[in-house]
Amino acid sequence: MRELPPPPPEHDDGGEGLLRVVALYDFVPKEDTDLILNQGEEYTILHKEDRLWWRAQDKDGNIGFIPSNYVMERSRIEANEWYCRNITRTEAEQLLRQENKEGGFLVRDSSHQGVYTVSVYTKSQGATVIKHYQIKHTETGQFFLAEKHTFDSIPEVIHYHQHNAAGLVTRLRYPIDTMGRCVPATAGFSSEKWEINPSELTFMKELGSGQFGLVRLGKWRAEQKVAIKAIREGAMFEEDFIEEAKVMMRLCHPKLVQLYGVCLRQRPLLLITEFMDSGCLLNFLRQRGRALRETWLLSMCQDVCEGMDYLEKHSFIHRDLAARNCLVNQQNMVKVSDFGMTRYVLDNQYTSSSGSKFPVKWSPPEVLHYTKYSSKSDVWSYGVLMWEVYSEGSTPFEQHSNGDVVLEVTRGVRLYRPHRATSEVYHIMYRCWHERPQERPSFSELLEDIRDLAEQN
Ligand code: ADP
Repeated sequence: MRELPPPPPEHDDGGEGLLRVVALYDFVPKEDTDLILNQGEEYTILHKEDRLWWRAQDKDGNIGFIPSNYVMERSRIEANEWYCRNITRTEAEQLLRQENKEGGFLVRDSSHQGVYTVSVYTKSQGATVIKHYQIKHTETGQFFLAEKHTFDSIPEVIHYHQHNAAGLVTRLRYPIDTMGRCVPATAGFSSEKWEINPSELTFMKELGSGQFGLVRLGKWRAEQKVAIKAIREGAMFEEDFIEEAKVMMRLCHPKLVQLYGVCLRQRPLLLITEFMDSGCLLNFLRQRGRALRETWLLSMCQDVCEGMDYLEKHSFIHRDLAARNCLVNQQNMVKVSDFGMTRYVLDNQYTSSSGSKFPVKWSPPEVLHYTKYSSKSDVWSYGVLMWEVYSEGSTPFEQHSNGDVVLEVTRGVRLYRPHRATSEVYHIMYRCWHERPQERPSFSELLEDIRDLAEQN
């Protein structure tokens, strides 16, 4: 169980020195110990012992736990209504088109760390135009969009261009409400529990079935949609998994399918996760891949790369990254699922590299020969996933048996360039298949390359 932080110390300094934050999203408390958050309002953080759930106080003196990913220091760029976190260039364009407002804009991360891009939407003579401007800075640390108008901070640059086009296609008239749309999952439903009471679940339609058993759509407390995975008896090392579930729940990122909790006092064991409307990426590619433009294919690869970059930074190895283990939501955003789960599979055909269900075609030589997993073996699989995306869900090495693939890959044979991939895109996936793990790029390097490519379109 997660320990509750100790009660707040008495303060007689009127709160000075305590962290002040602003709520990025509304949060509805699930337990008495939680605090309601209203988007845009200020809160004081009393305790930060836990990385994911902080103890906070509102302006009326109410105290409780809040999800730490729902608030931001007022002074940070992320706290501004026009900033949108974890959005690809293509997703930004989709948001602006949907909003369809002259001068609609948002600010997002550019391909380089710490650098931001303004995306703005305008209509000229009936045609829509979306422009992307990088916010530059001078040698003396001043920020600008138009060279003549430099400012000390990015919010000042935005504020200026809200009133003056000054070289942009239009002035920034209307900040898109990105926050209301992209409300992230919390790490569990509340600060206190990772064990979920099964009587609070209602079961709806079947979504699919996998290695562990049946997956159904359901609701938690009659309101929040969730996916419920019932673990078939004999399919999982349950005790080991239950221990690990506590770690997995604390992996919280917009591009990872969130584990909300488990029902563990009954059988079958139930895993409760974030629900993803459009199902698994592999089927999505097969059914809708042809209709997707190349920019969307790259955007989907970027989503997966962002999720994997987070796992890499937390030294967490996926072990079975593939399009079948990613899910797609209503906005075509892709999230990585089933991370680390192969360790709990009770099925030799799946876990032994000579087994018929082993993901041979997604595995690098060191896994095939020595079962040596690392973030760099995930990178290899990521290259194959990119290949799946750009071949609209084809099976890699389709005509070849697993045995042949082991021999050929060991000999240096690699997947060909899929028909939708440009040579730049193929170059990125090809680098993931270097024989020596240390020569493969890391996910953070891959992410930079993919973002760079996205900005060139
Ligand atoms: P397993 O891990 O047991 O192999 P999967 O995670 O592959 O099972 O799930 C099987 C199928 O159920 C997926 O292909 C997908 O169609 C559906 N599914 C699983 N999880 C979700 C979810 N969170 N949201 C929507 N559909 C899901």
